[in-house]
Amino acid sequence: MNDLIPLVNKLQDVFNTIGSDSIDLPQIVVVGSQSSGKSSVLETIVQKDFLPRGNGVVTRRPLVLQLVNTHTGISSMDETSAKNADYAEFMHLPHKQFLDFDEVRKEIESETARVAGQNKAISRTPIHLKIFSKDVLNLTLVDLPGVTKIPVGDQPTDIEKQTRNLILDYIQRPNSVILAVSPANVDLANSDSLKLARQVDPHAKRTIGVLTKLDLMDAGTNALDVLSGRAYPLKLGFVGVVNRSQADIQSNKPMTDAFKSETVFFENHPAYRAIAHRCGTTFLAKTLSTILMNHIRDKLPDIKAKLNSLIGQTQQELSSYGDPTFTGKAHRGAIILQLLTRFASDFVAAIDGTSAEIST
Ligand code: GDP
Ligand code: MG
Repeated sequence: MNDLIPLVNKLQDVFNTIGSDSIDLPQIVVVGSQSSGKSSVLETIVQKDFLPRGNGVVTRRPLVLQLVNTHTGISSMDETSAKNADYAEFMHLPHKQFLDFDEVRKEIESETARVAGQNKAISRTPIHLKIFSKDVLNLTLVDLPGVTKIPVGDQPTDIEKQTRNLILDYIQRPNSVILAVSPANVDLANSDSLKLARQVDPHAKRTIGVLTKLDLMDAGTNALDVLSGRAYPLKLGFVGVVNRSQADIQSNKPMTDAFKSETVFFENHPAYRAIAHRCGTTFLAKTLSTILMNHIRDKLPDIKAKLNSLIGQTQQELSSYGDPTFTGKAHRGAIILQLLTRFASDFVAAIDGTSAEIST
């Protein structure tokens, strides 16, 4: 994602400066059956340990996770905070900054229990969390409760219908990229995520398949037909990943070690060795970044038109002041005009520079 960050930040900077709406980046929504590995995948995309994960009903409320790049100046951080540290804030706890991401996980757990109760019930009311960091792209990711069939604990008898409707609410938005997670140790024909995605994205244009638990497949079987796109065609393809196991979570295996063992897994696996370069979490993050870039490119004509009309407006305003060097207002106008014009050419150059990469 890193290449994209400066470009999009620049874009958002300009839109913020001129007080215009920022570009609407797609929201990435993670769907799948319970314990398929949704929260694990999300964590590796964000590259932070902060989500409750585990077997059984863990995610019981939608988590709307907004990543905020602290470079753009829209952070609410005051000067007393450690300027360089990443931190998190919950909407239900305004002004409280979490510097320790273990505390973030605990807060998600207790806030889940506060609204959804202690006993496995699910609530539609989302938890809003913002993570502020220099290294993230301004982007929204949504973690959702998984699809389950049989009510447990305090769950109502129609739990399956309720969770499906909840998921559909999020993925039907055309601006959502659906991250459809399926565990590799269950037949894809039974995949809840692909079934749900197909309902709202019948031509499979904005669905990306993620196959988790490749390390847990039966000996002698592999998922090569899925990963190569033969089994189930999706325009954005399938990416195979290996997340941390429950034992890894219990032993607090650091994320960097998990990345390393994932790479080793793919590079040494007889079936996946040949496609190792397009497997794994790093590749998934890169693919998401390409999707974002394509989205921005689609919006480019709009953005250009907006910039041009702003430039025109500012020019007109300026000429109405007469000589721009005399009045303060005109001076400000001249600066904005300069900024816009420079940005417009920078931006077009940057996008042109990346188009070769995108079209591959
Ligand atoms: P969610 O319910 O879909 O959010 O699933 P979680 O991310 O909470 O994962 C459920 C369980 O599966 C956890 O115990 C994870 O450690 C485990 N898990 C997830 N992905 C993998 C994987 O790729 N390999 C292995 N071995 N375990 C995984
Ligand atoms: Mg989860």
